[in-house]
Amino acid sequence: MKLQETLLNSHTNNTSLYESLTFEEIGDDHIYTGIETPMREDAFELSDEEKKAQIAPLFAKIMEIMGLDLTDDSLKGTPNRVAKMYIDEIFSGLNPANKPKVALFDNKYQYNQMLVEKDITFYSNCEHHFVPIIGKAHVAYISSGKVIGLSKLNRMVQYFAKRPQVQERLTNQIAIELQKVLGTEDVAVIIDAKHLCVSSRGIKDDTSATVTSYYGGAFNDATKIQELYNHINN
Ligand SMILES: [Zn+2]
Repeated sequence: MKLQETLLNSHTNNTSLYESLTFEEIGDDHIYTGIETPMREDAFELSDEEKKAQIAPLFAKIMEIMGLDLTDDSLKGTPNRVAKMYIDEIFSGLNPANKPKVALFDNKYQYNQMLVEKDITFYSNCEHHFVPIIGKAHVAYISSGKVIGLSKLNRMVQYFAKRPQVQERLTNQIAIELQKVLGTEDVAVIIDAKHLCVSSRGIKDDTSATVTSYYGGAFNDATKIQELYNHINN
């Protein structure tokens, strides 16, 4: 991955333009409307068990409409499997109760350079097509006196990935949460991902990848960004 590839702007602001467009006019374009995942106020009035119980028959209905025989041994368990997978696994990051608990430690090592946790593999899903986004996240921060367990950086990426997502929002959500938790602006996140809605359908481009970045505080500096890329490409 080269430096030039980060030019993709992670702060698109086309909300007003898109509001006036119909579904057909928007077509396959991926729209990014804000930093927060759009959720309704009553999002957690149902328990996880109630959600699964309601999703299963609705998914069965979709299969049935497509003409699939739900009495077939191989298919009959699918609606329940999908409901369980949505709530317990691939969309579990919608529920704030599943956010990783973070403990901070004093920076006893007096390490004051950037720390980079690179090549964090994640699986997410595109919120426009509900097909996978598969990628790697690189997360970096400079300690403001506190340090975080390395596995928590990984867990924070996984938490935000387990939502219907757009890559720009995923990038920003991870960065802003880490800034909050670590009490510093000096956080960078780079995501390099493949979108199955681009490779397996639609334009069917299997070789392209999408790169997004967030540079906070001290990372808004060309030499710091170069140093970060040297670590990532090392
Ligand atoms: Zn998509």
